[in-house]
Amino acid sequence: MTLPLPTVNGEIQLKDKLSEFNLNATLDEKCPKCGADLMVKRGRFGEFVACSAYPKCKYTRNLRLDVPCPKCGGAIERLRSKKGKTYFKCSDCGELFWREPTKHRCDKCEGVLSIKYKRGGSKVLHCQNCRLDFPMRKEEDGN
Ligand SMILES: [Zn+2]
Ligand SMILES: [Zn+2]
Ligand SMILES: [Zn+2]
Repeated sequence: MTLPLPTVNGEIQLKDKLSEFNLNATLDEKCPKCGADLMVKRGRFGEFVACSAYPKCKYTRNLRLDVPCPKCGGAIERLRSKKGKTYFKCSDCGELFWREPTKHRCDKCEGVLSIKYKRGGSKVLHCQNCRLDFPMRKEEDGN
């Protein structure tokens, strides 16, 4: 009798699950299938985009980065491998990225800088071509 939970345990658990499932940001993007808003949901395999008209409409896709593919300008999707490692893949040309690409360019070679996590969790920008790390930059075009 020490639990501070109100009486109907089953219902509360259900509500918690639902609210977690619904605690999602709506995207500025419409479902290509039915035109309803798309939203970000959190599932067992991380976050993904789903149609807000679910379960009527079952459209889902992976999260995309704001940054276009450095190779073809296509949309880069955030994916998770079976081992739980996050990786990125261009949905157009299929290019794989093990580190999250950014809008920033290397001072030396103009290559795309990606985010590298250092021990301890701090982030730096990394150039794969030069194998150099740069401090994180502020968004130059931050609105
Ligand atoms: Zn839909
Ligand atoms: Zn591409
Ligand atoms: Zn470079």
